[in-house]
Amino acid sequence: MIAAVLEAPKKLALQEIETPECPEGGLLLRMKACSICSTDLKMLNHGQKDLVYPRILGHEISGVIAESRAEASGLQEGERVQISPGIACGSCISCRRGADNQCENIQIIGFNRDGGFAEYIQVPKESVRNGGINLIPDGLSFEYAALAEPLACCLNGQQLSRVGEGDVVLIFGAGPAGCLHAMLARSRGASAVIMAEPLERRVSLARVSRPDVVIDPGEEDVRERIMEFTDGWGVDAMMLASRDVAVDEALLSLLAPRGRICLFSGLPEDQAYPNLNFNTVHYRENLITGSYGCTYVQNKEAIELIASGSLDVSRLITKRVSLEEIEEGMEHAEKREGLKAVVTDKSGGDGLGR
Ligand SMILES: [Zn+2]
Ligand SMILES: [Zn+2]
Repeated sequence: MIAAVLEAPKKLALQEIETPECPEGGLLLRMKACSICSTDLKMLNHGQKDLVYPRILGHEISGVIAESRAEASGLQEGERVQISPGIACGSCISCRRGADNQCENIQIIGFNRDGGFAEYIQVPKESVRNGGINLIPDGLSFEYAALAEPLACCLNGQQLSRVGEGDVVLIFGAGPAGCLHAMLARSRGASAVIMAEPLERRVSLARVSRPDVVIDPGEEDVRERIMEFTDGWGVDAMMLASRDVAVDEALLSLLAPRGRICLFSGLPEDQAYPNLNFNTVHYRENLITGSYGCTYVQNKEAIELIASGSLDVSRLITKRVSLEEIEEGMEHAEKREGLKAVVTDKSGGDGLGR
């Protein structure tokens, strides 16, 4: 089969490699769509903590079951599925608590196991057993189904920071994750969605998620705009979907009483040790949480949200490339000229590659 193999940082090569076998108790999937994530870019350019080389990247996966050795699960050849990329053990404390993305034995497809930028992909028995396989509802395309994983990551962030009814939500970064956050916050009942984005072309792209206000932090005083918009209340929840946000006093000061901050993106190392007055956190009962990845249940919920139409992801995809054109897709993501790039079956063949 053809696969895009990352051999070392910045060395992505299309290779003809052996088609993997269907693992015992698992599935062999014919890839149909795999969207490109900013984490893929990070891994391509710099590596990542869970990445092992050489590696086929791609963790936003949908396809058709080409072979099933998971008969007991009822999953059959020909079924359309989306895959939750985490492979959790199912028995550690985090797993038993439903926080399987924090599993102490976790492996992740596209990080330390081969991912979806290939014609075929192995899905192990653990994924089947733990509920990592989601049937794609009729009428939902493979491309939109692939977006369930990034949406599930946003869902994790918003659940941890308790975004809900009546909240004023501020999202830093109007890239694909920021836009998904905006749509999701709206569907969870947020009363207002504010986005902060310095890149002009992304400000116009951000309109796909219909924010109430878009602030350019390079040009405008963010605090002034927020306080003006919220009559001095501040924001109830803040999603940091950009690495370029300083976590500091000025940021904390945007929070309303009981306001929450979600560190959705990892911070650059030199920004990771902020100097904060935790008495502000104490008196105003603020909450600072991280979020990383998503759980099996959140994947399921995300695909249902997309299928229900309560979130319109159609305008989120701004580039479609074939597997052979993957570099173009990576470039699209890298240049931040659009939103989401998807490696997909452009020619209407039977899947990625040919
Ligand atoms: Zn991702
Ligand atoms: Zn576990």
